[in-house]
Amino acid sequence: MSRFLDIGVASLVPYVPGEQPKDAGYIKLNTNESPYPPSPSVIAAVKAESEKLRLYSDPETSDLTAAIAEFYGVGQKNVIAGNGSDEILAFIFKAFFGEKGAACPDVSYGFYPVFCSLFGIKYNPVPLDENFMIDASAYADVTDNVVIANPNAQTGIYLPLDKVEEIARSRPDRLVVVDEAYVDFGGETAVPLTKKYNNLIVVQTFSKSRQLAGGRVGFAVADESLINDIKTVKYSFNPYNVGRLGIAAGCAAMKDREYFDACRSKIIATRGRVAYELAKLGFTVLPSKANFLLIRHGDVGGEEMYRALKQRGVLVRHLKDERIKDFVRVTIGTDDEMDVFLKKTAEILGELK
Ligand SMILES: *Cc1c(COP(=O)(O)O)cnc(C)c1O
Repeated sequence: MSRFLDIGVASLVPYVPGEQPKDAGYIKLNTNESPYPPSPSVIAAVKAESEKLRLYSDPETSDLTAAIAEFYGVGQKNVIAGNGSDEILAFIFKAFFGEKGAACPDVSYGFYPVFCSLFGIKYNPVPLDENFMIDASAYADVTDNVVIANPNAQTGIYLPLDKVEEIARSRPDRLVVVDEAYVDFGGETAVPLTKKYNNLIVVQTFSKSRQLAGGRVGFAVADESLINDIKTVKYSFNPYNVGRLGIAAGCAAMKDREYFDACRSKIIATRGRVAYELAKLGFTVLPSKANFLLIRHGDVGGEEMYRALKQRGVLVRHLKDERIKDFVRVTIGTDDEMDVFLKKTAEILGELK
């Protein structure tokens, strides 16, 4: 720490991203990326766009928001794009949460409390129930704005849409942000509800289900007045927030519905098979509608499992949150990758005997 650091920043505890090893030897199941490459149309679009990198990108990201609006049947004015959904979430916390505070599930995306400390927002963790499910009724008396991930981060558990609606409907004077990073793996999106509730914002990303984690593209859909408020923050911070390559890639990815459906179907099928095999090995597997599984085994601790797998060339994520420290989170890779993962896992359990 230098002697110049602002004392407010000195007290921050930053978000810790999953490892991104330079060494390509690992089977990488730790940060919920897609195991499949971007679609060929995305690669072609990025190549063509790279000729124009001399020029700034479109600050309105019009082509991209048009493609998103078309996909979801909403108006273009109801969409804003960002440099990953992390940026969109940051804009939202900055725009709306100053006085309200943020109520979030106690086990969820680790960035929510970090944004709260960065922007000086009160963080109000609301416990998941004993089955790690979001209890919609626990939000009935909460006056803070609400941020939930659905399916929830870390657990993968999906909250049915009528429960999301209940949270939005019960208190029109608070904002409800639904982070749908994993919704394409079996959940149902709340985007149509944004037409009915002007206190609802749906946030999505191209990182998980559209093969573009490194492209950094995310977006939000909401009532036009909310989108305009988010734009006030964006234009006070970084008007060219999505680069030319991100816009081109995002646009092409949104339009290639066939490739999108093929990739997510494969991941859903692989997830089912791996969950079944893990249960046979004695694991507790939380019911996931995401592209990862949160799993626990009575004979091995979470940290120990993580280390043993890493030693064998398989990277998974161990999260230190008290309630899930006995678990590891395993991203769904290709079938071949998951076969190696299952084999190494069985080996580790065998050595304990
Ligand atoms: C991965 C993830 C994000 C961040 O996505 P980017 O678009 O890559 O910034 C946001 N929320 C949740 C719940 C995530 O899992």
